[in-house]
Amino acid sequence: MTIHLFRCQDCGFRCFPVRLACRRCGGEGFEPVPATRGRVLGATPTSVGVAVVDVDVDGVRLVASCPVMPTVGEELRLAASSETSGSGSLLFVPGAQHTPAQESEQHP
Ligand SMILES: [Zn+2]
Repeated sequence: MTIHLFRCQDCGFRCFPVRLACRRCGGEGFEPVPATRGRVLGATPTSVGVAVVDVDVDGVRLVASCPVMPTVGEELRLAASSETSGSGSLLFVPGAQHTPAQESEQHP
């Protein structure tokens, strides 16, 4: 699962979602930068069993949901995104490490 941050072509400032003009320099040229994981800055439990987390993704602070209560500094990976629907709703889950799920596959 990947989202795309947007990097200003003039100064390198990153944002999400894309803006009309760069907050730092006013530039209007952006290029998409793929991102798949982030680090927890803070987490707040909710009554519906998920946590609302602040995630630092390559220097961009995003608000996302997480099915468990993560610890601050924990690395999360992006599991789902409604980026295409425009709502910007993101789901991060623990487990940034790659799990060798395919390595036990049988080869006849
Ligand atoms: Zn800029």
